[in-house]
Amino acid sequence: MNANHVRVRFAPSPTGGLHLGGVRTVLFNYLFARKYNGTFVLRIEDTDQGRFVPGAEEYIFDCLDWCGLSPDESVRKEGPYAPYRQSERKAIYRDYAEQLLESGHAYYAFDTPAELEQMRNDLRTPENPAPQYDHRTRGMMRNSLTLGEEETRRLILEGTPYVIRIKVPENETIHFHDMIRGDIHHETNVVDDKVLLKADGMPTYHLAVVVDDYLMKITHAFRGEEWLPSAPVHILLWQYLGWKAHMPQWAHLPLILKPDGNGKLSKRDGDRLGFPVFAMDWTDPKTGEVTTGFRERGFLPEAFVNLLAMLGWNPGIEQEVFSLEELCELFSMERVHKGGAKFDYEKAKWFNQQHIQRTDNARLATLVAPFFEKENITAEPEYLTRVIGLIKERCHLLPDFVTQGRFFFEAPAQPDLEAVKGKWSPGKTEFFRTWAASLDSIAPDHEALEASFTELATAKGIKKGDLMLPLRIMLVGGKFGPGVFDIVAMIGSAATQQRIEAALVQLA
Ligand code: GLU
Repeated sequence: MNANHVRVRFAPSPTGGLHLGGVRTVLFNYLFARKYNGTFVLRIEDTDQGRFVPGAEEYIFDCLDWCGLSPDESVRKEGPYAPYRQSERKAIYRDYAEQLLESGHAYYAFDTPAELEQMRNDLRTPENPAPQYDHRTRGMMRNSLTLGEEETRRLILEGTPYVIRIKVPENETIHFHDMIRGDIHHETNVVDDKVLLKADGMPTYHLAVVVDDYLMKITHAFRGEEWLPSAPVHILLWQYLGWKAHMPQWAHLPLILKPDGNGKLSKRDGDRLGFPVFAMDWTDPKTGEVTTGFRERGFLPEAFVNLLAMLGWNPGIEQEVFSLEELCELFSMERVHKGGAKFDYEKAKWFNQQHIQRTDNARLATLVAPFFEKENITAEPEYLTRVIGLIKERCHLLPDFVTQGRFFFEAPAQPDLEAVKGKWSPGKTEFFRTWAASLDSIAPDHEALEASFTELATAKGIKKGDLMLPLRIMLVGGKFGPGVFDIVAMIGSAATQQRIEAALVQLA
């Protein structure tokens, strides 16, 4: 592999539903990798055993498969840097923590949770509401810096639980370049001495992410803006471990905001405002609570990917609807914005509607069939495919095909006859009886049907316009749907006759 070979990674912690922001991170990684003929790695960051959630890892893979954004290397498709699950790499990290201890950039800390709590309580002031373990406080705590070498060794030999913390230097400014944000700097005085290795011997995210990005030869690290505050710790680790020359280029992707722009979009916003936030349905294994996903709400994966691309990036041209291949060609990190991107559900549905129009009817038929099944409607594929051609323009989400197309499969349960009752006349009853009776001898095509309808209306001296709406309501149930003679041609003469007769019984 050549030294310039692009390697990017998505590094999720499998703890629950996959937020659309996570999928967007995947997408930008994926697009970047494709653009530069690089490799897209998926690494499972599961070092926090307390947050283990059964099924969550599998679910991430399912979401990525659905989106068509599958990684090139992962636990399912191992490459040269296996294992790709951090819990299986446990033995790797300790050496690096020890290297940091030796070079004086880390120290042992023996403080119990109660002692940490005590420190926070003692030092809390209105100016400093959340005291940290840092250069100001480490001198008052029980660690190898305050206890000395001998006592430290004794405590360790005795089996006293300890963690290893980074020793963040005082009065330094840490600079790094972010591909989206330019030069970023952090003052070390406000950065705390993060734990690197936990009492159970597991690394924390901070140590593991740096070690693995290095060992897996990651060249570009893209992640959400919420990780920006962790960046100084990571930069220090790259430096202290002697790897600065190999540090990936960073890009902290803009947040996805609530529709009103007030803060980060959360699962709770989705629940409150009635739209999905997760890629696919997620069932919380503890509570059994199901949170709806974009897939189950009736989004096409290509539309989901398209709308995510437009959250925080723009192609610099008018066009908004793109296939994944087009996005691969157009994508560039330079066009990713710094500012957060407001999520607009109506716009999301518009993207889906646009992709529905571009999708072949036979494929749509296989995608919408489950939604018909859910309503106990048997939709024979060939017939369904033809129905789809007539109604797809009106459909934003896949279940809309059921609402827009149900009457192609069954008579409307309660046609809105009230809408035509006021203007009903025996002449109209007579017209419909005659026309219905003639249907068997008319070719089942739009033009022939309309011609016979017009001709009979003229013969009976009734305005065609006064008959069209009643016919629609008899067949469809309400004032919607495609061309009414297309509907007649599609459902056939027998169903048309039955529906007309059923309505006439109520109208006459
Ligand atoms: N494990 C982190 C997460 O859950 C990864 C952050 C990063 O990409 O560095 O998002």
